[in-house]
Amino acid sequence: MSAPDGPPAGDGGWPMGPGESTRAVHTPRPPVPAQTPMGLPVYRTAAFAFDSAREYADVIGGRVEGYSYSRIDNPTVDAFAAGMAALEAGPSVGGLVGQAFASGMAAISTTLMAHVSAGDHVLASASVYGGTWSLLRKVLTRFGVASSMVDMSDPVVVREAIRPNTRVVWAETISNPTLRVADLPALAAAAHAAGALLAVDSTFATPAICRPAGYGADLVVHSATKYVGGHSDVTGGVVVGAPDVIAPVRALRVDLGGSLAPDDAFLLHRGLATLPLRVERHCGSALRLARALVGHPAVAGVSYPGLPDHPDHPVALRLFAPDRFGGVVTVHPRGGRDQGMALCDRLRLAVPATSLAGTHTKVSHVASTTHWQLDDDALAAAGIRAGTVRVSVGLEDPEDLIADFAQALDRI
Ligand SMILES: *Cc1c(COP(=O)(O)O)cnc(C)c1O
Repeated sequence: MSAPDGPPAGDGGWPMGPGESTRAVHTPRPPVPAQTPMGLPVYRTAAFAFDSAREYADVIGGRVEGYSYSRIDNPTVDAFAAGMAALEAGPSVGGLVGQAFASGMAAISTTLMAHVSAGDHVLASASVYGGTWSLLRKVLTRFGVASSMVDMSDPVVVREAIRPNTRVVWAETISNPTLRVADLPALAAAAHAAGALLAVDSTFATPAICRPAGYGADLVVHSATKYVGGHSDVTGGVVVGAPDVIAPVRALRVDLGGSLAPDDAFLLHRGLATLPLRVERHCGSALRLARALVGHPAVAGVSYPGLPDHPDHPVALRLFAPDRFGGVVTVHPRGGRDQGMALCDRLRLAVPATSLAGTHTKVSHVASTTHWQLDDDALAAAGIRAGTVRVSVGLEDPEDLIADFAQALDRI
């Protein structure tokens, strides 16, 4: 029999017509519509059927393009990956392709492992995301891949830390929680001079703020869970790059299996349409909140790349879209842990919550949450104070957020 399109005919092998269960399994299907649906169809299917055994063999054997199994490829997932590639490419960089994953860490682990082998070295930033740090230090070391972490804000330090066996330099466009901005052209030059790839985790930036491929990055990775999804209701990841650097990532995704589910791909794809609008609002509100926080007597300092006193403000002005410096603001209240926690508790609109991005303003007291494993010395080395609070600015009216922080800071 060929691909499913309705009940088996009631002749031939079924003189009485097919039985109840057969009819139930083989219900009629309308043909695939000729008109393009405005909404992205969700291909919620694990498997695909073929018109013939020959087509099945040809698709599986790679001789004919086609869908066979959703761990390998799925049209809804492909639409999201292609959309992300188009946004990262922007008007100036051609020919990028994407691969989508079930989480940011699935994207990061698969991307890294596709490009390193035993005996290789990865150079990452000292402030690298905790999951990436754990992957490099606890997992990849078991497979003979060495790694070192350095302050990536100094290109000289980076050049000196690159080893002959460094295959990947791993940076983050905007780091967590001190919001350091990577000088991507300098990092790309250093990596390429050593024959290494520059991979950039651009989760905090999104292509609405910065497109690292235009500054020389070979691989651009996102936790799509954050701004791309944007509503705190889906996890996903994506990597974008030229076809030759993405091909091994795709092959390893098929083998490791961290593929994105079609329903989640639908949500992430829907997020793309409003990503620039949301990010513009996140950034505008974050800048206003950052400026308002600076003046409050209970605040010792504010880290935000849009403020002139941030060490990477000039880099941000050079690499970022005008007036867009990200949706995260890090505030350092006067005092210690008690004041940081009190600030989180006294807020009425902003909620203490994991993760970032999303519609709601979220706060985390850094020393007791995202960086709880670090002692005070390690925190200080990372630019974090005992009371530091990371604010992921949501889509509420900025006046309301500013008022909320003012009333909370008045009472810590
Ligand atoms: C959240 C995050 C990740 C991990 O993504 P998941 O979707 O949680 O797996 C990686 N990098 C950065 C910068 C993140 O914020």
